Amino acid sequence: MQKILENALEIGRKYIPEGECASYIPELAKADKNHLGVCIRTRGMETFSAGDTKERFTIQSISKVITLMVALQHCGFNKVFEKMNMEPSGDAFNSLVKLDLTSDKPFNPMINAGAITTAGYLVPDVSFEDMLNYARCLCLDKDIVMDEKVFRSEMDHCARNRAISYLLQSKGILESDVEKSLELYTRMCSLSVTAESLAGLGLVLSNGGRHPETGERLIDKYAVQVAKTIMLTCGMYDGSGEFAVRVGIPSKSGVGGGILAVVEKRMGIGIYGPALNEKGNSIGGSHVLEYLSKELNLHMFAAEQ
Ligand code: GLN
Repeated sequence: MQKILENALEIGRKYIPEGECASYIPELAKADKNHLGVCIRTRGMETFSAGDTKERFTIQSISKVITLMVALQHCGFNKVFEKMNMEPSGDAFNSLVKLDLTSDKPFNPMINAGAITTAGYLVPDVSFEDMLNYARCLCLDKDIVMDEKVFRSEMDHCARNRAISYLLQSKGILESDVEKSLELYTRMCSLSVTAESLAGLGLVLSNGGRHPETGERLIDKYAVQVAKTIMLTCGMYDGSGEFAVRVGIPSKSGVGGGILAVVEKRMGIGIYGPALNEKGNSIGGSHVLEYLSKELNLHMFAAEQ
């Protein structure tokens, strides 16, 4: 396994020069684009790591998975999807064009409009501290904190997300306080994780929301089922279709360079690689996952060997 991970990194590294760190949040541009790490945590409680797996970075859009699951558990399926769809958008994660012109609902909870809507469901009753505790618990990482610098940097440069939020309010989709919903969304994006924490989250999701060692239920099982399905269809933004064909593992990326991947009933995989492709997905990380999927036969529709 260790050799396979090292080979995967070697392949992933070749693509780093073609990618760039996100810069629309100035603090993210400071990341070292050469970092690349992959961690696998298995149902047998083994951990395999290669590369930069202890480096902390912000979770960004991967937090949308946590927010969605907590909202489903807290408000129920009907409420969450009353004003939101579950279809891929085919547009960039921060697009507001179709939301304004052709649709009265955000396309799905994995794009910014959907995640801000979801945060709005939670704002009246669930505090950021509660959400931080969920994140620590689900990622099996008690050291997760909010990265204050990244949070401030994003809040100072979030004109687009603010525009999306007020558009949602104008359409009657976001009913909670707009600024509080935007702030909760941005705080969740600023949680600092490692590739290992993401592998932990993947492991819990692969185990249907139960703690892999104690069996304790950490999150509602139906919420986990819904989240994994939407990760498969929408988790890599407008790159989700090709990613599903090439990799075939429900995954979610973030512009901090993370990728969370869930191999059903087998393992969680966490990636860190801040050089992004044009869709905003880790370029090295995507190739690492494609290689691992082939080598370890992880594609959900892989022909049996
Ligand atoms: N915080 C980022 C934003 O709202 C998250 C985007 C992402 O990771 N794709 O733009």
